[in-house]
Amino acid sequence: MTAFFRLLARNRLALAGGIVLSLVVLLALVTPLLPLADPDVTDTSNRFRPALSDGALLGTDHLGRDLLSRLLWGTRLSLAVGIAAALIAATIGAAIGIIAGFYGGRIDNVIMRGVDMLMAFPYILLALAIVAALGPGLLNALIAVAAVNVPFFARNIRGITVGIANTEFVQAARLAGLSNPRIILSEILPNVVPVIVIAMSTTIGWMILETAGLSFLGLGSQPPQADLGSMLGEARSALITHPHTSVVPGLMILVIVMAINLLGDGVRDALDPRLKSGALSRPMATTRVDRQSIPDHGEKSGDSLLNVRALETQFHVRGRVYRAVGGVDLHVEPGECLGIIGESGSGKSVTALSIMGLVASPPGVITGGAAYLDGEDLIGAPYRRLRDMRGRRVAYIFQDPLSTLHPLYRVGDQLIEAIRAHRPISRTEGRVRAIELLDAVRIPNPEQRISDYPHEMSGGMRQRVGIAMALANDPDIIIADEPTTALDVTVQAQVLSILDDLRRSRGLAIVFITHDFGVVAQLCDRVAVMYAGRIVEEGPMRAILSAPRHPYTARLMACVPELGGGKRRLEAIPGLPPVVDALPEGCAFADRCDRTRPDCRAGDIPLAPLAAQSVRCLHPVGTEQEHAS
Ligand code: ADP
Ligand code: MG
Repeated sequence: MTAFFRLLARNRLALAGGIVLSLVVLLALVTPLLPLADPDVTDTSNRFRPALSDGALLGTDHLGRDLLSRLLWGTRLSLAVGIAAALIAATIGAAIGIIAGFYGGRIDNVIMRGVDMLMAFPYILLALAIVAALGPGLLNALIAVAAVNVPFFARNIRGITVGIANTEFVQAARLAGLSNPRIILSEILPNVVPVIVIAMSTTIGWMILETAGLSFLGLGSQPPQADLGSMLGEARSALITHPHTSVVPGLMILVIVMAINLLGDGVRDALDPRLKSGALSRPMATTRVDRQSIPDHGEKSGDSLLNVRALETQFHVRGRVYRAVGGVDLHVEPGECLGIIGESGSGKSVTALSIMGLVASPPGVITGGAAYLDGEDLIGAPYRRLRDMRGRRVAYIFQDPLSTLHPLYRVGDQLIEAIRAHRPISRTEGRVRAIELLDAVRIPNPEQRISDYPHEMSGGMRQRVGIAMALANDPDIIIADEPTTALDVTVQAQVLSILDDLRRSRGLAIVFITHDFGVVAQLCDRVAVMYAGRIVEEGPMRAILSAPRHPYTARLMACVPELGGGKRRLEAIPGLPPVVDALPEGCAFADRCDRTRPDCRAGDIPLAPLAAQSVRCLHPVGTEQEHAS
């Protein structure tokens, strides 16, 4: 809640609107306490006195009534009617929308066709018809304005409800045996309330205007009672001769409606969860780079295909610094498969995305390091250069192909588009190439499958399309970020074998990110283990499999069940990885490790060579004898 107000206050216009509106509402509330003249007492000898005259600060109207007093009482009435109409319209409209959206079927059809009929009338005409039927008067104007706005809320809320009614948590509630009214109250309502609030905050101003319009036409408040609309209506005949009588209520309407609309926009922005973390801005085309120095190629890995040096990526969110990647060195040779493994949250994805400048900025910032692809530093390369390389030299495969494929285009069209992004070929040629690609990832009947939509394919099939997309432009490296995590084991095995074949037949280098040691062991030549944004152990797959040196690696491997290996205790790692905005000093794993000694908690621990691998640990596994003394 405080975060909401802080975000709202950051939006200057919304803040100004909020302040003005609070002042107006405060004035309206204290009006009965102020020493004002009676707003309805006429004094025809004092007609049309100008503003700032004695005893009448804003002058008097055509019947000699005090304008200031009428303005304040009128504002009070207009605000009350507008807000009441908005509340009524929102309540009834939301109830209709929720019922229609939740029950669906015939109920939905009947209700929504009725709403459609209401919407088919011009707004003001409908309001006029309702007032004509009920008779003029402020209460009837309120009913009319509320009624014409019900369809707007009903339509909005129904749309949202239909989406929510089919989500898993609602189905879970059904399975748990909750009654429909309970589900509506406990599952649906909390999700639509923000939408109702937003819709209301952006329409109250409109409703105040409509009420004023009806009063202006003489159908709302009746003389002598003043509201802003009727004041304008009465001043109409003296518009030219005594303009102050219309300017006073007119300005008040302008101020109120402007303030409400500005505040409403601000509320909408602040309540939208997508705008919450990234502040009120759109991400830049590439990740922001802010580094003091550029590391060189290094001697050991100078001629690698991809050579990442001391990469540091942080997220700056509301004054906090999350060090997601804290100095990562990696190198990948042509045709090699490098596995990156670690628990979720250890910084694997951020590392992979940083290489091509794909981390969203704000809040992401690359604060140090370099990523050399064939000797060219990609960190800080201009957007045009990066865009040219994305997909053509370095391609990505992501975890969930359903979210990376566009749901409304055929997979073939998406493949052709990916090819044509980098090569000026015709659509027919593109189609031939797309079929070849689908064939290469072992999709049966590619000629037919090419015109499928993503939802017509199974998860494994979609992930193969994802791989085909990555292959579209013959990249040198594919970075696969947990590509098999969403798949079942048999499909996972197929996808892994496709990747392995492609690597051997095309000389592709693969960076394979996963949290599953079993998968890495099948595919990779070398493995890097990540923990809390740093690499804690790195070396040849076989060496690490036979003798893990870092306690974390050993614990990770102990988590993998072994088929046919007999019964043994699966060792879950106790505790959770540290939060990366408050990393402990020394070893980040110290709190969860059973080999921790006092020196683990002081100073930086370097990645030191040990046997065939490198380990960031002072007391590695398998070195007990030396330490026993
Ligand atoms: P994983 O190893 O599971 O792929 P990530 O690389 O996605 O982990 O995340 C690494 C760390 O960065 C996590 O601690 C996560 O909380 C943090 N992080 C990722 N994205 C953001 C963001 N937009 N804002 C703040 N922190 C983030
Ligand atoms: Mg990830």
